[in-house]
Formats: sequence, structure tokens, C-alpha cells
Amino acid sequence: MQKTIERIAGDSEGVAYEFPVFRFEGADKSAPTAYLQAALHAGELPGVVAIDALMPMLTKAEAESRIRGAITVVPWANPIGRAQYHFGEHQGRFNLGTRTNFNRAFPLLAAPHAELLPDVSLGGADRRLKHRLVELSLGRDIVLDLHCDDEGLAYLYIHASLWPAMADCAAAMGVDAVLLWNEDSSGTFEGASIMPYQNVPASVSRFDRRVATTVEYRGMLDVDGALAASDAQGLYRLLVTRGVVQDPSVLKASSFTGAVVPLENIDMMPSPRAGAILYDVKPGDRVAKGDRLATIVHAPGEVGGRTEVFAPQSGFILTRRSRRIIRAGEDLLKLAGDKRSDDARSGTLED
Ligand SMILES: [Zn+2]
Repeated sequence: MQKTIERIAGDSEGVAYEFPVFRFEGADKSAPTAYLQAALHAGELPGVVAIDALMPMLTKAEAESRIRGAITVVPWANPIGRAQYHFGEHQGRFNLGTRTNFNRAFPLLAAPHAELLPDVSLGGADRRLKHRLVELSLGRDIVLDLHCDDEGLAYLYIHASLWPAMADCAAAMGVDAVLLWNEDSSGTFEGASIMPYQNVPASVSRFDRRVATTVEYRGMLDVDGALAASDAQGLYRLLVTRGVVQDPSVLKASSFTGAVVPLENIDMMPSPRAGAILYDVKPGDRVAKGDRLATIVHAPGEVGGRTEVFAPQSGFILTRRSRRIIRAGEDLLKLAGDKRSDDARSGTLED
């Protein structure tokens, strides 16, 4: 295993950002290759600790000459966001200088060729970081971007072109749900990892071995040793299932039994009022149309000071907020509906 330090120039004199990259060389040039990164939203740490638990497994595999395809691992993908504190609170989702989401504005290339990447030498540090992350991952058969939600189940975003081909991966990882999407107009890292393969010859796209996904490892507070160990097992099982690592002791996962939900079915449930949230439901709960999801206490102690929110359709709760304070119009939760949502915002990649 080789460790290198990447360096991203900052936007003012004396400022630069660094992050480590770990590379395992593959013994078989024809074997599938993999790229894993975590904490692109810099405060989302379940994936970071999963990688921490995965690394000894990869190191052992390397010592026993069982790594077939090259593997690149970036445990801290966002040193810019990592360093952002605002009045003592960490802010890892948006670049404070540009207000751009760190998981947006990635270049969506027409083909998987690094020479198509735009010149970002004067584009700002976050664009230089994104440029470099795409360079590091481009051409890898398997690209995993490890995130988490606020409070939630373990689920994957997967482009429809990779489903059901990636069902073995979802089973190997043991996630609860898969969200299928079709369009990315905003340039997520996942979009940058799959859109370049949509209009190229089959000999390049290789959909039989391609994997690209945003992994949502539950919630912000699910940074836990036991979860990290089981998530690392899931990642390792995926690498074995797809032939990147050889390990006869790993049993192939049975077929995927979790929920498969088109993104159009997700109801984001905007809060009708500002106030304090009293939830009736938590992630994983099954709800019927008309069930109460939450009560917003907007005028405490006053008659009519509570507003209830009901399920617009039947389905299950995928995520909810970890904080209980909300403004009108902010999303209360994600309801994975049994049918298409009436909410016009549904269908876009949320992470
Ligand atoms: Zn995220």
C-alpha cells in the first residue's frame, strides 16, 4: 500500500489544503478496479470510520497477495470543508466562500477522459478539489462515495442504467434501500462518476462491471464502532463479490431484499410552519396515507398553536432531521412512497 499526500492550492497566499490517498496495486491488470472516498460533505463521518475499519482488511489481503484490481482510498475527501468552522459550529456541506454544495458542480464529462476536464487553475479551491477527485476516480470500475443523511436508514443512490446490475452490491453491503435516479443537472460526484459512460461504446462503458453510488450510511450521529465494523464488512464483501479482492472465506450475499424506490416516489415533506418538531415516526417506520408524521409547535401554549403533518401517501420513512428546530418550507423528512410523489421537487438527487 502506498500513501501519498494530495495538495490543493488555496485562494489566498499562504493557504493550501492536503489530504491523504492510499493505493493498493492490483496483481491482475484485467481485474475490476475500485475507488472509495468518504466525507465529501466533510462532517459526515460514518464512512470515514468504515474506511478506518476496512483498511486493515485490505492490508491483510495485500500481504496475502489477494488484491486483484487496483484500489484507491480517500478517507477525507474534503479538507476545505473539514477546516470550516463558523462560530464554533462545523460547516462541511457548503463552501462558505462560494455557497456551493461540496457535492455539486462536479464536471459531467461526455466521456471518461481526464483531458476533457475544464481548466480550473483559476477556478477556486473547491473546483480544484473536485477536479482532482474526478481525476483520481475516473476510469475506475467501482466508485463509492460514502455519505450519511441527517437521521436515516442505510441506503444507496444508483443511476437507473446500473439497476438491477448492481443488486449484488446492494446485497453485499446490506443496505436497507436503493433509490434509483435518472437525471443529474447539478453535477454530483456520483453523476460525474456515471454520466461519462452513458454515450460511449459498450467496450468503454462496461456496464457489466461498473458500479457508481452515493452511499448513505444512516445519520450524522451513527459514528459507532460496531456499525463501522459491519459497514467495512459490507464494503469488503462488495469488493470480493466484484472480483477486486480475492477471499474464498467470504460468502456471496443472497439476493437484495431491501426496498427499491424510484426517486420520483420520494416525498420530502416541507414543514408548513416554523417551530419545534414533535415526530410521530422514525426511519424505517411503515406509514399509511393520512397517518400523522409530525406536529409542529409554532405558537406554544396558544389555541391553534400546533400544526399536524400527515402522510400524503403510504410508504416508509427513509430519513428525518436530527435537530428539532425548523423553518417553514424546510424538509421534515423523506417519505419513500409506494407511488410517484405529487411534490414537484421530487426526483432530484438530494445528497
Ligand atoms: Zn453528504
